[in-house]
Amino acid sequence: MTNPKTLNMYLAIILIVVLLLFAGQKMFGQTVAGIYARTRKRLTVQLPPDNPQFETAAPQNNTTAPPPANNAATKADATWADNPTQVFANFKPHEFDSPDAPGSGMNMRLSTLQMLQNARNIAALPFKINSGFRTIAHNNKVKGVKNSAHTRGYAIDIATTTATQAKVIAALRSAGFKRIGIYKTFVHADNDPNLPTPATWYY
Ligand SMILES: [Zn+2]
Repeated sequence: MTNPKTLNMYLAIILIVVLLLFAGQKMFGQTVAGIYARTRKRLTVQLPPDNPQFETAAPQNNTTAPPPANNAATKADATWADNPTQVFANFKPHEFDSPDAPGSGMNMRLSTLQMLQNARNIAALPFKINSGFRTIAHNNKVKGVKNSAHTRGYAIDIATTTATQAKVIAALRSAGFKRIGIYKTFVHADNDPNLPTPATWYY
C-alpha cells in the first residue's frame, strides 16, 4: 500500500500541474488540445516525402516503352548494329573492329560512316582504316585519350602519306567532319557530339 503521505504528495503534484495548464491556457489563450493539434500539424508538414529514389526505381506499369523521338540526335546515334542491312560502297564492318573484339565494328555510328563514305568519294582515293571502334581495354592499350570518340564509335583514323594527307583532310572537311587530328602517318576524324566541336589538332 502507498502510504498516505506519498499519496498526498502525488495529489499535490497533480493539482499543481492542472493549475499550471489552466494558467497557461488563460495566459496564452490556447488549450492543450490546440497545442496538440498545432504540434501535430507542424510534425506532419516536416515529415519528408516518400523516398523519391524508390519512387523512380519502382517498376513501370506500362509494358510498352515510349517510341524513340524521331529527331536528328537519334539518327546520329544509330549504330551499324541498329541497321545491319546498311551497305557502304567502300567499307566492310571488320575494317572498323577493335582488334580485341571481332565484330565490334558494328558499333560504328551510321552518321560517321556515311560522312566517311562521302569523304572517300570526294577524295577518290583508297582509305585504309588504321582504327575505328575501340573497346575501352584496347583504347587503353594503344594509349588513346581516356574519353576517346573511338570508344563510342564516332571516330576513324585513316592512313595517309605526305602525298595523300592534304587531299584526305580536305575531303573529310568537305564531307562535314569538324573534329580532325593530323598525325604524321594518319588522320583522325570524328563527329562525336560529346566532344568540343570544331577542333583541329596536330601530333
Ligand atoms: Zn583517332
